[in-house]
Amino acid sequence: MLRSGLYIIATPIGHLQDIYERAKEILREAPVVACEDTRVTKKLFSLLGISLQKRFICYEDHNEDEKAQMLTDIIEEEKAMALVSDAGSPLISDPGYKLVSRCRERGIYVTAVPGACAVITALQLSGLPTNRFMFAGFIPNKEKARQDLFEELKNLNSTLVFYETAPRLLKSLAQAAESFGCRQIAVARELTKMYEETVNGTANELTEYFTINEPRGEFVLMVAPPTETAPSLDNLRELLAARLRETSLKTAVKEFSQNYHLNKNEVYALALELKNEQL
Ligand code: SAM
Repeated sequence: MLRSGLYIIATPIGHLQDIYERAKEILREAPVVACEDTRVTKKLFSLLGISLQKRFICYEDHNEDEKAQMLTDIIEEEKAMALVSDAGSPLISDPGYKLVSRCRERGIYVTAVPGACAVITALQLSGLPTNRFMFAGFIPNKEKARQDLFEELKNLNSTLVFYETAPRLLKSLAQAAESFGCRQIAVARELTKMYEETVNGTANELTEYFTINEPRGEFVLMVAPPTETAPSLDNLRELLAARLRETSLKTAVKEFSQNYHLNKNEVYALALELKNEQL
């Protein structure tokens, strides 16, 4: 029998089999399940072959304070409670932290079964630096808030990771073009699902791509960090022109695109222009 406490359980973000045995065992045994949308969670339980003979309690953002109190009371009545979100890891752009905080304050046992999380999966596929990253949650819907957020984060020496929805993707890419210029961006969508796709390019290139390929599904948008030595366009022209006098166009393009995380096609176009000027 499970000991009384809170069990934070990650569920799949797409592929149904992306869930640990231990997670399934706890979901089977826990008499109470706190979830965002009971219909979504009951459907998952049915697909996983887990009995619905237990208590499902809705726990959402807008009633988090009140419900946290109520849920801790239930756990204190010697119950084991599983906390799940609609998909992925609870608390990551999903409710739960107030409940965890309250349980910890009250000395209630809290544990987590890790698992699928779109931030991590997207980063793994992005090809962008993963040694330091900043997860900034959902990109705001309002134009000014979106601009402010990108401007606030643009000089941070980290890969930036955002959650995004299909209808807003092009607006965010337009702002990204303004704030991040020609920095490399990766857009990952439909992770672990049939139409999983990761596309890299500058914001302008990705705008072009997603104008042709209408955005569908769930998205993670990632921005490469600025390199300390990332040159301004004028400096870039100067440095690249100097390097082109020393080495082949191919080598210079490779070096510059890698060193400064710049788009290879754009560096190539600039290098060609400079090479022609040098002739
Ligand atoms: N807690 C979840 C996690 O661990 O990733 C995230 C929940 S948040 C409410 C939902 C957002 O996560 C989506 O709008 C999307 O940005 C991202 N997301 C979730 N599943 C995804 C997937 N399979 N592919 C791409 N992005 C996904």
